Amino acid sequence: TQAHVDAVAAAKPLNAYILETPDKALDMAKAADAIRAKGEAGPLTGAPLGIKDLFCTEGVRTTACSNILGNFVPTYESTVTANLWRDGAVMLGKLNMDQFAMGSSNETSAFGDVVNPWRGAGSDRKLTPGGSSGGSAAAVAADLCLAATATDTGGSIRQPAAFTGTVGIKPTYGRCSRWGVVAFASSLDQAGPIAKTVEDAAIMLKSMSGHDPKDSTSLDIAVPDYPSFVGKSVKGLRIGIPKEYRVEGMPAEIEQLWQKGIDWLKEAGCEIVEVSLPHTKYALPAYYIVAPAEASSNLARYDGMRFGLRVDGANLTETYEQTRAAGFGEEVKRRILIGTYVLSAGYYDAYYVKALKVRRRILEDFEQAFEKVDALLTPTAPSAAFGLGENADDPVAMYLNDIFTVTVNLAGLPGMSIPAGVDANGLPLGLQLIGKALDEGTLFSLGGALE
Ligand code: GLN
Repeated sequence: TQAHVDAVAAAKPLNAYILETPDKALDMAKAADAIRAKGEAGPLTGAPLGIKDLFCTEGVRTTACSNILGNFVPTYESTVTANLWRDGAVMLGKLNMDQFAMGSSNETSAFGDVVNPWRGAGSDRKLTPGGSSGGSAAAVAADLCLAATATDTGGSIRQPAAFTGTVGIKPTYGRCSRWGVVAFASSLDQAGPIAKTVEDAAIMLKSMSGHDPKDSTSLDIAVPDYPSFVGKSVKGLRIGIPKEYRVEGMPAEIEQLWQKGIDWLKEAGCEIVEVSLPHTKYALPAYYIVAPAEASSNLARYDGMRFGLRVDGANLTETYEQTRAAGFGEEVKRRILIGTYVLSAGYYDAYYVKALKVRRRILEDFEQAFEKVDALLTPTAPSAAFGLGENADDPVAMYLNDIFTVTVNLAGLPGMSIPAGVDANGLPLGLQLIGKALDEGTLFSLGGALE
C-alpha cells in the first residue's frame, strides 16, 4: 500500500486520481495486516484499489467528476465498494472519469483530461485512455493501483481497457448492485473491474457481485467462483463471429487483430462459426436515444436543493436554472437536451418507443446467435487510443467509438475486453468477448486462453 501511495503521489501528470486518500489507505492496510496475522486473509486482503468517482464512498467526496456534485460527501457507501472493503481491499483514492460517465475519452471531466500512460512509438503526443472509466484504466496500466472499479453503460469499462492494455469486464445486467453508484442510464449501467490480468478481474468481480435488496434490479442468483474458470480448457467451445461487426471503413489493423484472435481461439481448440446479428446497425442510434432519455430523468434530481452546488437566483426557478447551467458540463447538457426531446409528448413514439423496439430486436439477435454458439468474439473498439483533443469537438465522431460495445448493454449481456497485442505504433488493442446472460464464467475461461 505504501508503495502504491507513493506511486500515486508521483504520478500527478497523468491526472488519474482526483482525490487521494493515503491516510485511509494506510489504516485499511493495517487492518488487513491484522487479518493476515490471524491467518484469515482472502485474495483481496490488503489489495490497494482505485475507485471510480461514480461510486459513493462514505465520508469521502464523490463528484462523478462534475461541478454540480463538486462538494458532495456521501453519508453511505455503495454496495459494490462495501463488498470490496468487506473482503479486505484498501482504498487509494477516487479516480477521474468522464462527467457523469458520459463520454469515450475522459475529456468531459470537470477535473481535466486523463493522460494515457501509453505513447505511440517515437511520438510524444498525449493520448486518451478512453472513457468514461479513463482514470481507472490509466491507473491500472500505470501501476497506480492493483485494480480499479469502473462502470459501463455503453462501453466505459471495455473501451478504456482496450486503449490501455488492461482487462475489463462488464458483467450481466443485475450482477452488481447499482445502489450507491451515481446513476447515468439505469437500465444500462453496470459496475465491473478493470485489472491487469484475467484472474485479477475474476477475483474482483466475484467480490463486487451479489444480490442486494437495495437495488430492485439486482439478481438474486448465486455468484459462481469466477477465478476457478480462469485456466479451464476452452476446447470444443463454439465461438461466433458476427459478420455485421465488419463495419465499413474498419482499419486494416483492427481487421488483423480480429483474425489473430480467431486464430488463437482455433489453436486453443475452439470451433469458429459465422453468425449474424442483423440489427447491429441500429444499435448506436438506439443507444444514443435510450441512454440520454434515462439520463435526462436521472439528472433531474440535481436541483440545487438536495446535493452539491447551489447558485441562488431571484426565485426558485431561477435557482434551478442557474445551478444547472453552472453545474453541468457541455456533454451532460447535450444529453439532457437529447433526452428531454426524445421523451417529449410529440416525439416519444417516433424516437423513444422506436428505440425500445430496436433494443428488443438486438436482444433477439443475440438470443438466436447463442442457440448456435457459446460466446462471440469481436474487436473492442474501432481504433487504438486517439490523441487528446482529436475528437473532442465532434460528438458524433466520439459516439462512433462505441460501435462494438453498446449492443452488449442494450441486451444486458456480459462483455469483456482482453489485451491482444499492439498496433504498428506500439499502442495496445483489445478483443471483446460477449457471453450469454449470466455466463461470465465462460468469458473468464476464454479470456484466460487469449491472455
Ligand atoms: N461512451 C458512451 C457514452 O458516452 C458510454 C459511456 C459509458 O459506458 N458510461 O454514453
